Amino acid sequence: MRVIEPHIHMIARTTADYERMALMHTVACCEPAFWAGYDRTSAQAFYDYFTHLTTFEPKRAEQYLIRHFCYICMNSKESEDLTLSREVISFIPEFLARDNAIGIGEIGTNKNTRNEMTIFEEQVDLAIRLGQLLWIHTPHLNDKLKGTRMMLDALRNRQDLNPSLVCFDHVEEHTVEMVLAAGYWASMTIYPVTKNSPARVVDTIERYPAAPLMVDASGDWGPSDPGTLHQAIFEMRRRGHSDQEVEKIFFGNPHAFLSQSPKFRL
Ligand SMILES: [Zn+2]
Repeated sequence: MRVIEPHIHMIARTTADYERMALMHTVACCEPAFWAGYDRTSAQAFYDYFTHLTTFEPKRAEQYLIRHFCYICMNSKESEDLTLSREVISFIPEFLARDNAIGIGEIGTNKNTRNEMTIFEEQVDLAIRLGQLLWIHTPHLNDKLKGTRMMLDALRNRQDLNPSLVCFDHVEEHTVEMVLAAGYWASMTIYPVTKNSPARVVDTIERYPAAPLMVDASGDWGPSDPGTLHQAIFEMRRRGHSDQEVEKIFFGNPHAFLSQSPKFRL
């Protein structure tokens, strides 16, 4: 069985994680651009980060026979500064032209502020104009429901947006329904502490068996583990789901979403 990891921050992981993922049959992973653990002080720092995502990470992954793809964007946590954000947005197209860049993401909101929404909408506009996939980060815990609603409302005004090119990530039980009802893809993140557990993810898959759902481990700087994806695979198999059903969720669905980018080829 092959596995695609649709959202992981490999910049924060060691090479041992690439090795573990390879041994667990992960054949591709996608790295959205996000916060680096600290606020960057210049646009040049983002330029260097995007360079890392489009040069060093694909090479590191290749040694383990994993294809590394990335999304480029100005993330929500640092988009309060409109001038800095717009400077970063100005060179996003340059990076979207690179071989492993398959879309814009993970854009979204963090504290649901007006400036975050402005930068979110400007990047949605860029994605529409350039025909790019969009990977959307929904905020944590208390801000999640409100932020998800705000972003869904903003996208509703864009008649020129193709919903099948858009995925809302970190959905949970209280937000999955509204995302799917609007015609978007939804991805669930497994975290050992916050967000979803493997069992909760499988519960949701069972509730919406035909929905365009994905699962990711989001491995980053916090308590997280690329192996949680495989714990969910085991949980599905333990509950008696067929290999075909399991492969659909962990390979078929992300493959269908990502293949809408002409650069996503395995
Ligand atoms: Zn992320």
